[in-house]
Amino acid sequence: MALLICPECAYTTDDPRRRICERCKSDLVRECPYCRAPITAEPAIYCDQCGEKLRVSHVPLQ
Ligand SMILES: [Zn+2]
Ligand SMILES: [Zn+2]
Repeated sequence: MALLICPECAYTTDDPRRRICERCKSDLVRECPYCRAPITAEPAIYCDQCGEKLRVSHVPLQ
C-alpha cells in the first residue's frame, strides 16, 4: 500500500486523494524526493531504497 507522509510532522495517511497535511498544512509526499521510490512502510523515516531521511523535522513519532 502506498503511503503519503508529511515531511514536517509525523502525519501519515494512506488516503491517495489527500495532498495537504491536516496538522500543519504542508504538502504531503508519496515518494522519496531523492530516488523516487514509493513510500510503503510506516513509520517512514528513512527511504527503503536509498536510505535518505524522509522527514525534515525532529518531531518524535507517537
Ligand atoms: Zn504535517
Ligand atoms: Zn530514496
